[in-house]
Amino acid sequence: MDYGMLLNGVWCETGAIREVRSPYDSSLVGRVAEAKPEHVAEATSIAMQTMKDPIPAYQRAEILESVAKLLKQRAEDFSKTLVLEAGKPIKAARAEVERAVSTLTVAASESRSMAGEMIPMAATPAGIGKLAFTMREPIGVVGAITPFNFPLNLVCHKLAPAIAAGCAVVLKPAERTPISAIKLAKLFLEAGLPPGWLNVLVGDGPTLGAALVNEPNIALITFTGSGAVGWSIREQAPRKKVLLELGNSSPVLVFDDGDVEAAASACARNGFSFSGQSCISVQRAIVQRGVAEEFERKFLKLVSDLVVGDPMNECTDVGPLISKRECDRILSWIGETQKGGATILSGGHLAQETIVEPTVLSNVKPGMKVFNREIFGPVVVISRFDDIDEALELANATEYGLQAGVYTNSLDRAIAAAGRLRFAGVLINESPTFRADQMPYGGWKESGNTREGPKYAMMEMTEPKLIVVNGFPSN
Ligand code: NAD
Repeated sequence: MDYGMLLNGVWCETGAIREVRSPYDSSLVGRVAEAKPEHVAEATSIAMQTMKDPIPAYQRAEILESVAKLLKQRAEDFSKTLVLEAGKPIKAARAEVERAVSTLTVAASESRSMAGEMIPMAATPAGIGKLAFTMREPIGVVGAITPFNFPLNLVCHKLAPAIAAGCAVVLKPAERTPISAIKLAKLFLEAGLPPGWLNVLVGDGPTLGAALVNEPNIALITFTGSGAVGWSIREQAPRKKVLLELGNSSPVLVFDDGDVEAAASACARNGFSFSGQSCISVQRAIVQRGVAEEFERKFLKLVSDLVVGDPMNECTDVGPLISKRECDRILSWIGETQKGGATILSGGHLAQETIVEPTVLSNVKPGMKVFNREIFGPVVVISRFDDIDEALELANATEYGLQAGVYTNSLDRAIAAAGRLRFAGVLINESPTFRADQMPYGGWKESGNTREGPKYAMMEMTEPKLIVVNGFPSN
């Protein structure tokens, strides 16, 4: 066995093995100890016990800074692990590692500055003679469940704020891509995180994930993944705080006064990078009629230039999907759309066993799945509009609300779009795929119920405690 289960600082065997295989060529990437549901209670009890001996904030910051430093030193090894277990093209894998370093670094600095607030007690007669302030206390043991598509940085978005906030963690990484998380946990131990603060259990969602959700001593579940699973977790755990980061059907509005070249390039890059397996991949290009032909021509040329193939190749832009099953699902959605009258402008077939060609569709109607649901594959839909009302109606015609992009040089249009788009993040002259890790990131509607970014996650992972001191001279 290559990788054990992390319990109380010790890598253990469990008697069961899970093989991790490359989505590109099915080669064996590693063998991981598979945890059983009963390990959840054990890990949680260890974590609760550990939290009785808190680590001061400055030491938590130092540990996170050390993990960031170690990760930077071993960036190439982590990048290759992401290529092997997730099939992520090496260029995108390197970018993910760099961002994970940022996430850890930002969390370290937030750990040093996290504080409560002074309450202006003399503001009402009842407060006269009192001093009051709040402190932020860790909420308790955090249960973290993460998806396959960013197996390192999204794990950092759970672990870093939890440790920064003073919470111990039981982590269940995605079962298809657990090795980056295990290697990251090794860095935390090497950086001096005492045993018990981080426990890593690998296993599938319906058994191990469900056991974590149902464990009574977990105070908070932080989940990133699909909507169906996320919302069902919230229903199963009404007494817990459940933080959900879910999917999107990301639109890009291109107005006739916008930079069509920049918009086409952003859509080609961000619609197909990692085969569209990002929650904020460009899915819908919504283009004003006057520039639609120019956009389409430029966009299709850039799409045809994308390099498709082996994710370890330095030039590859588009690699495999996570599984053959996902390829079949995506091809069936494309087929359904075609039957409904859509036109395939490019792609639409398998390029290799688990690679779907970069696919561009037009004449898609808003009610169709590829328009309002999340395709999570290398597919971009182009629609045309006449005026801003129609553009916003098309963009908002989805159950999701994570991020949207707008290309225009008109301040009026930019402001109108920013105000009327039903998305939690509106990016002007930028693609909806943009994310810097300190940003408040999260979705409205079906896309979730929280914001990540270390500072915002730490607010969720701590609770305010009010202290009132009587006998204070007010003025
Ligand atoms: P998924 O929902 O299938 O799995 C996510 C995690 O949940 C995995 O660890 C899985 O084992 C676990 N899980 C599955 N069933 C469970 C259950 N019944 N109880 C508890 N845990 C369970 O998602 P995925 O395919 O790994 O990831 C893709 C999805 O993630 C997409 O919808 C994407 O948009 C979303 N995503 C969102 C963000 C964001 O920040 N908003 C970021 C990345 C991915």
